[in-house]
Amino acid sequence: MMTDGALEEDLGGRIAALVQNAYQKLGPACKPVVRSNGLKEWTVLAGTVAVSTDKASGKSQFRLISIGTGVKALPDVVLARSQGKMVHDCHAEILALRGLNTVILEHINYLKKNPLRSSDLIEKGSTGAYAFKNKWELALYISTLPCGDASMIALSKTAQAECDEYRRLSFQESDRIQWIDEKIRTIIRGRFNYGTIGVVRTKPGRYDSQITYSKSCSDKLCAIQVTSVLNSLTWELMEAPLFLKYLVIPKETHPQDLRRSFRDRLAPMSCRPLEFLTCTRSFCDGKSDSTDDPSSMACVKLFIDLPSVGNIEQAILNGVRNGFYTKDNKPLRTNCEPIVSRYAQWKLFTEIRPELSQSTYLAFKAGQDTRNKLICDVKRQLSPDGWIRTCKDDCQL
Ligand SMILES: [Zn+2]
Repeated sequence: MMTDGALEEDLGGRIAALVQNAYQKLGPACKPVVRSNGLKEWTVLAGTVAVSTDKASGKSQFRLISIGTGVKALPDVVLARSQGKMVHDCHAEILALRGLNTVILEHINYLKKNPLRSSDLIEKGSTGAYAFKNKWELALYISTLPCGDASMIALSKTAQAECDEYRRLSFQESDRIQWIDEKIRTIIRGRFNYGTIGVVRTKPGRYDSQITYSKSCSDKLCAIQVTSVLNSLTWELMEAPLFLKYLVIPKETHPQDLRRSFRDRLAPMSCRPLEFLTCTRSFCDGKSDSTDDPSSMACVKLFIDLPSVGNIEQAILNGVRNGFYTKDNKPLRTNCEPIVSRYAQWKLFTEIRPELSQSTYLAFKAGQDTRNKLICDVKRQLSPDGWIRTCKDDCQL
């Protein structure tokens, strides 16, 4: 926790510095490396921070909650053996948000087991459900523009310089290859047809790689302005949805791209629009040269900060904890699931709600009518032609 007299215009810089300083302290297993051929790897850094600003003095207090790094997503075919244990989407901002949900679950579990103790983030509300303490507002820092729609214009400018890729990914308006399902033209594969804006995109990957159906970070972050940052488990336990107030991104990014992608695309819907803040300090292990390669390693660090549960740092490779990977045709290893995986979160949730431990994760989730309707509405808004689902990934203890 740190307190200072940061002025409002410097808020973005303060938040970015807090996340970047915590990144510096991560172990080497969590960071990109320089390969033996001299090629330097890069990654993306993201973090969630709670901010409390005293209106009278203007002083702000910051509480770092989670950080994530990573730029990979798993192909849909490898999810068949997951049973909730593999993290499908290892992009930094998604890992940071999963981390936030795990921290909330840990704090609720602590309060339930220790009713006389308190937490700095969560309290028991008047209805018996839990609430995020009123003084906090939430910020998400990302070291670059989120992938997908919000970054397409910026990307097409760099990509034209890196001419080869741009040409390879440019197709005729009617070319079928750009869609995963040609009946659903409002979902485009990865970076195909850079110039098309305002559509849902799957996570970018090499054009010749096995396909992932995971949606881009722009689409996911856009949707949480409607559905909140809570996942189905924290949604069940919390009194009210919890929204991000700020998105902090580097200064050179274009505010009009963000407004178009995050606000215009949701125009008729009721939502909590993100406020965009910028920072000037660049991330030390970000992409700096077009010859750099993306790192395969991702990581999460959770600042749980409770007497019974310390902070947790895990490196993640191929969707499982680093060191636990097995080939696609082999079963997964015991304890391979990252702390932010569906399985680990479900396990923690059923400690809080033991009466649900016989259910499966997806059966439980199917019963959340209000949340499911919001998700359905926002999907229809973002992609009027329909939706493309990722492989079903259920789990049970
Ligand atoms: Zn992304």
